[in-house]
Amino acid sequence: MPHSRKYKRMKSNKRKLIKSILWDSQPHQCAYCKKPFLDKSEATLDHIVPKCRAGTDDLSNLCLACKECNDAKANQNAKKFRKRIRKNI
Ligand SMILES: [Zn+2]
Repeated sequence: MPHSRKYKRMKSNKRKLIKSILWDSQPHQCAYCKKPFLDKSEATLDHIVPKCRAGTDDLSNLCLACKECNDAKANQNAKKFRKRIRKNI
């Protein structure tokens, strides 16, 4: 379906742009475990309030997280996840 392919491409361009903005405006480290990113490709875009919990694509709801944290966080709320991480450390 050409329409959905086009939509996906637009979405990925937007994500790239948002990631660049966050990369330029935030410390180069994971928002949760504070692991430093050596390269932009290590950072993933994470929703602070997950989309399934009515989170938005707004910049204020997005942060940079390492892949491990992003995977571990999944659909949890960032506040809850931070607490869980602190317990583990
Ligand atoms: Zn992390």
